Amino acid sequence: MGLTGLQIQKLLPKTNCKECGSNTCLAFAMKLAAKKAELSQCPYASEEAKRVLGAASEPPVKCIELGSDRTLQLGGETVLYRHEKTFVHQTALAVNVNETDPQELIDSTLGHVRDYVMERVGETLRVDMVGVTQLGRDAHGFVELCKKAWDTAQRPLVIRSADPEALVAAAEAVKGTRSVLACALSETAGTLRQAAENFGHVLAVTAPDLDALVSVTTKLREEGFNDLILCFQTYSLSEQFQTNSIARRAALKDNFRPLGYPSLTFVKPQGLLEDTVLAINEISKYGGVCVLPSFDPAQIASLMTLRLNIYTDPQKPIQVEPRAYEIGEPKPDSPVFVTTNFSLTYFIVSGEIENCGISAWLVVPECEGMSVLTAWAAGKFSGATIGKFVKEIGLENRVSTREIIIPGYVSQISGELEENLPNWKVTVGPQEAADLESFVRARLTTS
Ligand code: SF4
Repeated sequence: MGLTGLQIQKLLPKTNCKECGSNTCLAFAMKLAAKKAELSQCPYASEEAKRVLGAASEPPVKCIELGSDRTLQLGGETVLYRHEKTFVHQTALAVNVNETDPQELIDSTLGHVRDYVMERVGETLRVDMVGVTQLGRDAHGFVELCKKAWDTAQRPLVIRSADPEALVAAAEAVKGTRSVLACALSETAGTLRQAAENFGHVLAVTAPDLDALVSVTTKLREEGFNDLILCFQTYSLSEQFQTNSIARRAALKDNFRPLGYPSLTFVKPQGLLEDTVLAINEISKYGGVCVLPSFDPAQIASLMTLRLNIYTDPQKPIQVEPRAYEIGEPKPDSPVFVTTNFSLTYFIVSGEIENCGISAWLVVPECEGMSVLTAWAAGKFSGATIGKFVKEIGLENRVSTREIIIPGYVSQISGELEENLPNWKVTVGPQEAADLESFVRARLTTS
């Protein structure tokens, strides 16, 4: 919850000097409350005002940055439901290795984390982190594995041990990687906080229940340490679902800062299906980091696809750049197709053209990321707009083909398009991209 204008005014000098551009301190305070001004515009703002207003302007769920370049971000969320605005930072997926695992398994898992890449609707998706767990008593082996995991995968780590001394040693061994130390209990929070501070890491804290967890985070906050992640101790899927929801609701609806952090969950290995369901729960219900017990490409691909769906901004359709795309190795006389720049549409159509085994040009005008019928209804995918775009990109200079194939759903624009492209023949293609292959086989010769 932000401060009101009157609350903010009490923190200002009240001299009405106008140097901030407002006539009075109260007017400036009202602008601050409405987030239409910044405190730095007042040269006389006290340290107290900066501290209080700075804290009030923090997102209710703190944004935590991980990795040596701090590019992996968690939290920073402002809404409970994605349709209210959007979710900001997606659940980070990690794959775990244990120091007791066979060497071949460790090597293959770390290699998979390093090399796995999935391309989907123009996004390049990779595994975000590596979990390193000490299961046995070999603290030295655990520390060495942390170093190896970082050297191999170059991903921030979730360093997990019940032995605080081993955790401190591992924290030092991968200093500067800005990884997560897991997990601090109330009795070890002081030692591990020091290690996190000294070696530049984030601290995951845990406790038997939410009240005890709040005590630990409150104490750490009072000591000035705020780089925290919450690890809930739960014993069933439903309890995990509830706890994630309660904590996030408290942070967002009640501005309850001790629970205003991203969360961390270790998936206990119970079988691929059960593990996947728990990971789905984390992705769907506010999880910050989800550590999977092993690498399974089918599981990772499914989870990343789900995550992409949930964390895509519902107000901004994923779009591809408007231009003429080369599918395969098109020649000047290769067929010319046209569709909209909604990513999903583009990738389905381009994939189906590839499946036909031909090379072609795929013209994609600016349609604000709408699908074919929506863009047509909004006047963004008409004969006039397509014709104008074809001329703007100079397609007629690059191709000798003078036939353009439009989606069957907008057959009604063919006349208008012919008027705008007088030397072209407009052919109405199939309504569904899945029918492109039979359409191509019937109408076109292979390039
Ligand atoms: S610059 Fe500061 S002191 Fe001056 S009017 Fe603005 S808010 Fe008040």
